[in-house]
Amino acid sequence: MPIAIALHGGAGTLRRSEMDAAAEQAYRAGLARALEAGHAVLRAGGSALDAVCASVCALEDDPLFNAGRGSVYTLDGKQEMEAAVMDGSRQDAGSVTGLGCVQNPVLLARAVMERSPHVTLGFAAAEDFARREGLDMRPPEYFHTDKRWQALLLEKERLASGGKDEDIPEDRKHGTVGAVALDDQGRLAAATSTGGRTAKWPGRIGDTPVIGAGTWADGDCAVSATGHGEYFVRAAAGHEISARIRYLGETLEQACAAVVQDDLPRLGGTGGVVAVDKNGRVALPFNCEGMYRAAIDGQGRATLAIYRGEG
Ligand code: ASP
Repeated sequence: MPIAIALHGGAGTLRRSEMDAAAEQAYRAGLARALEAGHAVLRAGGSALDAVCASVCALEDDPLFNAGRGSVYTLDGKQEMEAAVMDGSRQDAGSVTGLGCVQNPVLLARAVMERSPHVTLGFAAAEDFARREGLDMRPPEYFHTDKRWQALLLEKERLASGGKDEDIPEDRKHGTVGAVALDDQGRLAAATSTGGRTAKWPGRIGDTPVIGAGTWADGDCAVSATGHGEYFVRAAAGHEISARIRYLGETLEQACAAVVQDDLPRLGGTGGVVAVDKNGRVALPFNCEGMYRAAIDGQGRATLAIYRGEG
């Protein structure tokens, strides 16, 4: 059986001309580390679920990416992280939202799936569950980065001066991390984690923890999304990709293209997905300037890319 993994560190990157070499190098190194973390699990015969959690934990711990450490700020200057996992082999899922102190939100999403009677938990009650589960908790300073704080200040200025959504630079709009994998027993899994969108309203819930929107896995494919979450929820993006494969007989590439290049732009949504199917095919489409992405498909072909037209 082939094994495959694909991950993203968020869509909407800087233009190539605006990215300095050291930052680009750091992003590429972060993607490579996360890819290896997940692929090593698969090579050792581990499950797709363990692989996507390993990759997403690596990205959550890396302050460059908008998830876990380095998450963006809400309008009132707090961090409200969200995450989801889905085990395609059992079509089981867990997700969390509104977290301020859980080091790895993806592990809490997994605990919700495996050890609670629910699919989604949020805010203080979710953090209490994390403590009961013995997960690592961190103070606010751990999650803080100056870059994200500055992004909040700029965004508040833009809002105060009546700036339009189109005026926000791409790299300030987006960010999220996610991974999808196929293991050697044919099981598919997806995981996604995010700080959400800069200056989101307190209590706002995006697409990441909405099963079938930003995160989906079943017996046919696994999908993790990044982009303007409201649109991914309205398009039921993750589930729609799977449904097109199942009901229309489309390939993974066709189904992803229909949703990312047609459905989302029609609504006004920018972003992208990483997806893998039961044969180990991988798709990494996006409809914006770029997407931090990396994959090793079922034939062992590796990709690591940031910009449009690369990889
Ligand atoms: N999808 C995330 C959200 O809307 C953000 C992103 O991926 O850029 O919360």
